[in-house]
Amino acid sequence: MKKPIEDLVRQNIKDLKAYSSARNEFIGTANVFLDANENPYGNGLNRYPDALQTQLKQNLSAKIQVETEKIILGNGSDEILDLVFRTFCNPGLDNIIITPPTYGMYKVIANINDIHIREAPLTPQFELDIDMILKQVDQNTKMIVLCSPNNPSGNSLNAVVIEQLLKQLDCIVLIDEAYIEFSTESSWCTRLDEFPNLVVSRTLSKAWGLAGIRLGIGIASSYIISILNKVKPPYNVNALTEQKAIDTLQRVDIFNANMTLIKSERTALVESLQKFSFIEKIYPSDANFLLIKVGDADGIYNFLRENGVIIRNRSTQPGCANTLRITVGTPEENRQLINVLNNMEK
Ligand SMILES: *Cc1c(COP(=O)(O)O)cnc(C)c1O
Repeated sequence: MKKPIEDLVRQNIKDLKAYSSARNEFIGTANVFLDANENPYGNGLNRYPDALQTQLKQNLSAKIQVETEKIILGNGSDEILDLVFRTFCNPGLDNIIITPPTYGMYKVIANINDIHIREAPLTPQFELDIDMILKQVDQNTKMIVLCSPNNPSGNSLNAVVIEQLLKQLDCIVLIDEAYIEFSTESSWCTRLDEFPNLVVSRTLSKAWGLAGIRLGIGIASSYIISILNKVKPPYNVNALTEQKAIDTLQRVDIFNANMTLIKSERTALVESLQKFSFIEKIYPSDANFLLIKVGDADGIYNFLRENGVIIRNRSTQPGCANTLRITVGTPEENRQLINVLNNMEK
């Protein structure tokens, strides 16, 4: 028997009366705004931004085929994740399940908010282990966090298993799709209406090339979004970010050209790396990075660093002994990487 989603929300959050900002109490048209203690002398940024980013959400809505009331925006998807954790999990009491190796921020956000963590590691092939997951669930489990395509392994998680979890678990299933645009799988956003416990997070930081503006996207039922909107800081997305995002989303031509190039460079990089005898395995990637298994990760990492090439050593992650994560760069950056590796082999 599935609990209603309302029962998963913390009581204090359900009871919360959101801060009412100066602008959202007023509906209609006016030309004298003396309500928000702003400086009247304009530089284009003297007014508070739209607290609900209506224009940007309309743009995104058309792009991802999700209604605007099912979208929340944040200061990077890290803020979206934090909002979701705080909305559902009572500090010191509730727990979440994560499936390592995975994105490190889930643990950090849980630790900051004093939320217990239960781990159900991925299999050696980085697939979900459903028996292990089900064993971790108890009456205080509020959420499972899945990352697909998964960072750092690069693979998409099995959709059949995810669907089983969405149906079977009496908790929120949060799917982090930071790398979905690089993937052959379709986004879980298209399945929102089937699963009231589904929350998807996306970002403009990776495929859209806008890590610097900090724009994260949360997608869920309009009920969940209405609760998250109460919890978020009123003006969490600034006007510069909103405008830059709107401008960039229009440039589908640039986006498509980048995607094509990054994906073909990903294939080319696999082919180049395969030639090195010290690389034992290159894991299949649905993202813009490759995880490789080597004999001596520290040695290779240090040699590359000494030669001006920085990659990520993931060897301390569960199931990732002697692995390195390499982001797919420009053709020139990838060529430099291969050059240094060639010199190392000499
Ligand atoms: C890079 C990344 C993000 C992006 O976070 P932002 O705060 O939106 O920049 C989120 N999740 C995963 C798994 C990532 O690798």
